[in-house]
Amino acid sequence: MQSLKRKEEMTRRKKVLICSAAGDNSPVSKMLCETGSETVIAGIQKKSAESTVDIAYLYIPQGWISTVKPLIDLAEQAGIIVKTGEDSPVCRDTTALVSSLEGRLIRPSYLPDGKLYIEDAEVEDCIGIEEAVNCAEGETGKKYFFVSGAVTNAGFIRAAYGTSIEDIIAIAGGIRDGAKIKAALIGGDSGVYIRADQFENMRLEQWDDIFSGSIELIDESCCIVDILRQKTHAYRQYSCGKCPLCREGSHQFQSMINDMANGKGKTADLALIPDMARAIKLGAFCKFGRNMARHIQSALMVFTEEIEDHVKRKKCPAGICKAYLNFAILPDKCSGCGDCMDVCNEDAIEGKTGYIHMIRDDDCIKCGKCMEICKEQAIITVGSVKPRVPKRLVKVGQFA
Ligand code: SF4
Ligand code: SF4
Ligand code: SF4
Repeated sequence: MQSLKRKEEMTRRKKVLICSAAGDNSPVSKMLCETGSETVIAGIQKKSAESTVDIAYLYIPQGWISTVKPLIDLAEQAGIIVKTGEDSPVCRDTTALVSSLEGRLIRPSYLPDGKLYIEDAEVEDCIGIEEAVNCAEGETGKKYFFVSGAVTNAGFIRAAYGTSIEDIIAIAGGIRDGAKIKAALIGGDSGVYIRADQFENMRLEQWDDIFSGSIELIDESCCIVDILRQKTHAYRQYSCGKCPLCREGSHQFQSMINDMANGKGKTADLALIPDMARAIKLGAFCKFGRNMARHIQSALMVFTEEIEDHVKRKKCPAGICKAYLNFAILPDKCSGCGDCMDVCNEDAIEGKTGYIHMIRDDDCIKCGKCMEICKEQAIITVGSVKPRVPKRLVKVGQFA
């Protein structure tokens, strides 16, 4: 009987727990890896014992190695297998994470029998860094946040479930002086936007499933098209290409958003983007594609007017997208020194010493060199509203 039990034990597949720090580019995970290595290891050990697994893995993004060395050393001493790899958001899918752990291309896969294996052992559980920390501390009611953007004290806080966005901002010292908040981006690169008038009623547990522990306050100095331009560029790079909806969709999103930022946005795209997002949300193979679509949908919903400003009214209210900007010289500030003319390679500035200088919009390529050199800070960028400027050369101090 005893030998039968032993034989069963020998033939039983080993079970594995994976603790992954990758997948959401999360400042919280990085901070915990850098400052709480003992707690992270204790959490992995406790979770491994609870799940009765035989092997524990710790997956660390390659770029963190130098700053999380103590964690890696402790893990190895504790018999935890440390693997490093790309910090791709596709790794939020456990099958993709395992492909990276095994040194293969990061790509999710279908599991016919619902079981996932790594090097012949069965994956029993997969947790994040914060989950390991909470397990070690026996904490179930709180979450870490990295609060950034237009707040007074950007940084990490830990707040209880049930805390509203408004209260989290208050803990972070409140809104930065003079900032007019448009929305908050909750959940990092693949998160969703919440309008400022919803902060009071939006509580942590309502957005936990999208939450990587990041809240970024977006004020009027930020342009949503510029933000989407950066995000869609990253989406396109990260899409693993397995399914056409996400592969082609990320490409199309990037191209349409770039057009908007460059003053070439089409009205038809305003209808096409939400249609595409709906289709991708329904049909993408993994969460990465679905989250990408959700992010775009939420931007369109929260920033409808600002996006339409770029496409229909050809203006960038935040003054970020260069295509909608012009450079102008303020007549009451210009000293007529001529420095701007000297640096302008396009000969787009007209003037002579002692006269108020003028920029010819048609020749200006918006390089900004003149603005950098002007000691009087007389050169500004303007959107649709332009200051009154002379139409011909006028001596300094004589323009009324
Ligand atoms: S949704 Fe995107 S990342 Fe996920 S499998 Fe499809 S192509 Fe790859
Ligand atoms: S705009 Fe500035 S740099 Fe140009 S002439 Fe006037 S003061 Fe000089
Ligand atoms: S922005 Fe560049 S091109 Fe335009 S006027 Fe200034 S220096 Fe010349």
